[in-house]
Amino acid sequence: MSDATAKKEERRKFQAIRGTRDILPPETALWNHVEQTAHGVFSTFGYGEIRLPIFEPTDLFARSIGEETDVVSKEMYSFMDIAVPRLPRLANMITEWPWPDPTSDEEQFSAYQRCVSAFTDEYERAVADDELHPSPVNKQALQDIKDRSNTLSGTSLKDAQSKQLARESVRAIGLAVRIAEVGDYLTLRPEATASVCRAYIEHGMQSLPQPVKLYYMGPMFRRERPQKGRYRQFYQIGAEILGGTDAPGIDAEVIEMLMTFFDKCGLQGATLYINSIGHNAENCRRGYIEKLKAALEKVKDKLGPDSQRRIDTNPLRVLDSKLESEQAIIATLPHIADHLCDECKTHYAEVKRQLQVRGVLYQENWRLVRGLDYYMRTTFEITAPGLGSQNAVCGGGRYDGLVELLGGPPTKGIGFAIGEDRLILSLQESGKGQVPQGRDIYIAWMGEKAHATAIRAAKDLRKAGFSVDLPPLEQKFGKALGQADKLGAKYALILGDDEVSEGLWTLKTLSTGEQTKFTESDLLEFLRQQKNVSS
Ligand code: ATP
Ligand code: MG
Repeated sequence: MSDATAKKEERRKFQAIRGTRDILPPETALWNHVEQTAHGVFSTFGYGEIRLPIFEPTDLFARSIGEETDVVSKEMYSFMDIAVPRLPRLANMITEWPWPDPTSDEEQFSAYQRCVSAFTDEYERAVADDELHPSPVNKQALQDIKDRSNTLSGTSLKDAQSKQLARESVRAIGLAVRIAEVGDYLTLRPEATASVCRAYIEHGMQSLPQPVKLYYMGPMFRRERPQKGRYRQFYQIGAEILGGTDAPGIDAEVIEMLMTFFDKCGLQGATLYINSIGHNAENCRRGYIEKLKAALEKVKDKLGPDSQRRIDTNPLRVLDSKLESEQAIIATLPHIADHLCDECKTHYAEVKRQLQVRGVLYQENWRLVRGLDYYMRTTFEITAPGLGSQNAVCGGGRYDGLVELLGGPPTKGIGFAIGEDRLILSLQESGKGQVPQGRDIYIAWMGEKAHATAIRAAKDLRKAGFSVDLPPLEQKFGKALGQADKLGAKYALILGDDEVSEGLWTLKTLSTGEQTKFTESDLLEFLRQQKNVSS
């Protein structure tokens, strides 16, 4: 390989990881605009922002999202946060020790025992230092190792029987070391609802005036197949209302806020779908699921393998199927709306009535479901045009059992998560993606005196809220004006020695080529007026 090719190879090495991307200017201006709109709209509805950690214990997501979901079973970025680097090394030595057999001679035997006690000592120290957080199972494993290690220290290798006993202990220690776990399992958050609920519990927010209304925004991580509108690092803007009542007015208002936000962003053609999935009781959703199961069993052989499996594991999710061949069959299945209990039926009717009162247009979609027990009653989804098959820009619903599931008090809850990447894509596709940007003023200066004046002018203009480019090196006016054009500046402020000594500054409007002389204070006044006209 030639030096040049080797260098090229080297350069090629670093690229954003598959499914992640850099979001660059000018597109970031649109992201900021969308996020500012969220801050603005949500605060008018009385929501406060919550900033959450990017990673949490794996268990938080496993419990709240559910082990059987795609997100938990295949999409999470999980890793072991190793507390003390020596621990996994010792664990490896212990579990790999059979070569040579630790009971082959006295020397091996005592080296092995020293290794085991080093492991238990390090482990206990890490726990005492709050570096490691073993589960009851891990603790039991550590106790087993210590018990077996005690047995070993009283064992000799003299006869076949005691050697056999030692071997058994070595095997048992190997197993227990694997169970003990030398770090905490952490996961990059795939969503934020679980974290918000954890924070609600952790900070005793149930003692605040209820409900507590929170919103968040930021990156989420799921290991999915990257495609348009689907990334491994993507961004969500979401909100949750926790505590207080589950009155339909809460559901209707949260949806009203969402639609107000989309509207303010300039999103066109968004469709709101709603449904009620009742609650987890025999006279409501559970009864419906039985009927759904029975109906599915009858058409089982016409369904694909995924749906066939779901008849037993999660029949509601069959309704989610996008398989073309299954659509006609699914259309004949019973609807949950016909099997809701009276209370859930009334709740749903009132949510719909209140959406009408608020002027929010919706479509009912009986196939909109959630696969987890604690989801209940109102569910909704919003789709937007220009996104192909990834057209959901928001999903949400009521989840009254979640806080309790995570160890908190019984708490009502409802929320949504907007896919910001998809929202931005849809805005761009519809031509709404342009956010005015570019510089207001480019300062073309020549000469030492002019430089000092230019620095002061830049400071004053920026203070007045204008975006200003001040070139760091002197350049000929022609070149400077060319640069101003390329940057899309509205004006060039021309400062040469003449301008400085006369106290009259030249302002060139780049779109027309018109040049006007101003005193310093007139200039600021003129620019201010122009800005008010254009905004
Ligand atoms: P989908 O059916 O599109 O996979 P989901 O049901 O997994 O969506 P939710 O967990 O409800 O999505 O997340 C809410 C929103 O977040 C979605 O409506 C979507 O806009 C967005 N979203 C989810 N996963 C991704 C991803 N991998 N990339 C980009 N946006 C995503
Ligand atoms: Mg998904």
